[in-house]
Amino acid sequence: MGLSVLIVEDEPAILELIAFTCQSSGIDVSRAANVAEAKKCLEHKEPDLILLDWMLPDRPGIDWLRELRKDEYFHDVPVIMLTARGLEEDKVAGLNNGADDYIVKPFSPKELVARIKAVVRRHGDGEENVLTCGPLKMDKNKFEVTVDKKVLKLSVVEFNLLSLFAQHPGRVYSRQQIIDKVWGYDSSIDERTIDVHMLRLRKHLASTSMKDFIETIRGLGYKGVKPLVTASL
Ligand code: CA
Repeated sequence: MGLSVLIVEDEPAILELIAFTCQSSGIDVSRAANVAEAKKCLEHKEPDLILLDWMLPDRPGIDWLRELRKDEYFHDVPVIMLTARGLEEDKVAGLNNGADDYIVKPFSPKELVARIKAVVRRHGDGEENVLTCGPLKMDKNKFEVTVDKKVLKLSVVEFNLLSLFAQHPGRVYSRQQIIDKVWGYDSSIDERTIDVHMLRLRKHLASTSMKDFIETIRGLGYKGVKPLVTASL
């Protein structure tokens, strides 16, 4: 799947210009006209990056950014602030509050796309590609999963499912949310198929210390159980 960006911008003409620019470069876009809408989009699909306007009708973008950086699930989503405010102190404030980059309007479409790619690349280069959750370790670059240093052989789907739960342990996902996140928005996967994949994933985990990691939440979906925090000596 290609890059996905959530654009939060209240001026329709600018929103469409950005969306057009992104889509022309093969970037998948979601649109939000204010912070409230942006939050809803985020619940539905976690983008690779958020382009966030500073001045929005319901709340200042920077205000939401500050909140986002403290969020249990979304604190590490890369954010580029996009704004007409070009003052140095504004840029500094943006970066100090957790923005990964800052672009002043009017911007060049080419530069915008280059900056998006640069931020996402930087973000993906670090230890982000190695995910740990208790005794579980997942290396996305090597496509390698270990529990207590023992290698598990998972299919791509099982790997993606497990990384979803390991990324946000404690969070409940409905079957539809799992489909959106693992297969993508407009896939035609049946909700029952999820249960089959989950069963297989559980079988892989059954012989490990993560055997109870995946929990079924009746009437809702599934969650990954938060690993116990062991005190470091
Ligand atoms: Ca605005």
